[in-house]
Amino acid sequence: MGKTLLKKREILEVFEILHSSIFKPQIELNYYNPFSLLVAVILSAQSTDIMVNKVTDKLFSVAKTPKEFIELGVENLKQYIKSINYFNVKAKHIIECAVLLLNRDMPDTLEELIKLPGIGRKSANVILNVIFHKNTIAVDTHVFRVSNRVGLCNTQKPLQTELILEKVIPKHFLKVAHHLLVLHGRYICKAKKPLCAECKINKLCKFLKI
Ligand code: SF4
Repeated sequence: MGKTLLKKREILEVFEILHSSIFKPQIELNYYNPFSLLVAVILSAQSTDIMVNKVTDKLFSVAKTPKEFIELGVENLKQYIKSINYFNVKAKHIIECAVLLLNRDMPDTLEELIKLPGIGRKSANVILNVIFHKNTIAVDTHVFRVSNRVGLCNTQKPLQTELILEKVIPKHFLKVAHHLLVLHGRYICKAKKPLCAECKINKLCKFLKI
């Protein structure tokens, strides 16, 4: 349990193929600065990027910084985000983060980020990767599913997945690996009906051979 089912050269090939076939391996959440990314990431839990972008399109036109979110206030914020799951608690977390980050920069370590309300390990890794360009792997539902289907790992939990992926993915792909796996999962290796026939890594993938 846990370790990769692929050979080193097969893992390299998986990422070379994904990298050459995915045009823009980057986050699909819209943001303007570190704090607005943090807001988008909090909103994205149990929600889709499309829904979050729809909401933040209007929200970020009135508030992008901690100061502006504090001025907006929790009740007004709820009105902007009420179409998003768990908007009450998310609004509370966003304003609490705004207060904590009012006079300081966004923290750049996992340990500090996960102390912020509404920020777990996955969200912290997204911020570290996107804002601070660190080689982190944020294991969301797509990364977990794709990695296990392909055979990059054989795991039951996101943390196990993250630790194995960090070890087996070639160093030069680590920064972009999270985005490649998310986008491959979102558009090709879909949860219910993976598009295996048109998948560019189907010859390497273990899912079809198990
Ligand atoms: S072959 Fe199918 S299961 Fe494997 S990565 Fe491609 S879409 Fe996913």
